[in-house]
Amino acid sequence: MKLLKDRIINLDNRDYHMHTSTFSDGIPTINELVQFAWTIWLKEIAITDHSQVTIDFFRNELNTLIWTTAYSPLKRWKNVFNDVNVILWVEWDLLNKNGDICFDIQWIEPEFIILSAHTGIYISKPETVTEGTINAIKKYHKKIKFIWHPCAYTDFWYYDIEKLVKVANEYNIPLEFNAKNFVRWKTNLEKLDYLLKNTDKIYLNSDAHTLYELKTVREKAIIFLKENNYL
Ligand SMILES: [Zn+2]
Ligand SMILES: [Zn+2]
Repeated sequence: MKLLKDRIINLDNRDYHMHTSTFSDGIPTINELVQFAWTIWLKEIAITDHSQVTIDFFRNELNTLIWTTAYSPLKRWKNVFNDVNVILWVEWDLLNKNGDICFDIQWIEPEFIILSAHTGIYISKPETVTEGTINAIKKYHKKIKFIWHPCAYTDFWYYDIEKLVKVANEYNIPLEFNAKNFVRWKTNLEKLDYLLKNTDKIYLNSDAHTLYELKTVREKAIIFLKENNYL
């Protein structure tokens, strides 16, 4: 197994998981996010707003959502502010143990996605989430850029990390070390240890829902990795 520093795809200034108020549950708009990214030296970012099923589930609680905006303008959106390369993916939701997925955001299906499971959205028994994710990998591995942080206490507490790492490696799909969840004490450190030691490809992303998270959480995760001799 290669050293962790060579298995983490984006230890540099690239971040591939973040949310906006333009399309889901982040605080910054897509324009604010992109302008701020430049000031903190990010050179490439992926905006990964939640798929429609999650937006619908939370829409009563999320008064930040602006539903007069159709997703389609995003197809015409360009970064006019700076040289940050902006990629548009969607955070797909796993729906059940068969590996069915909510594909779209406002009826638009993106080319690439990140795969997540959230409590309240996943309708099969929680204990089946590993099986569901593996079934989704088998069906959709060509579209999946990485799998959202399977070490969380919150949404993914039933994950069998060993099984998942094995299948992810087999299909060449990276797993995520999610810095926002880590900083918020929502990470099972034993599972994270297994993930860091055994996964072939790893993304270290912020999953920022605020500009403060975009600026700080990956840095804190890197300090943790160094202090604990992972790096
Ligand atoms: Zn979110
Ligand atoms: Zn997210």
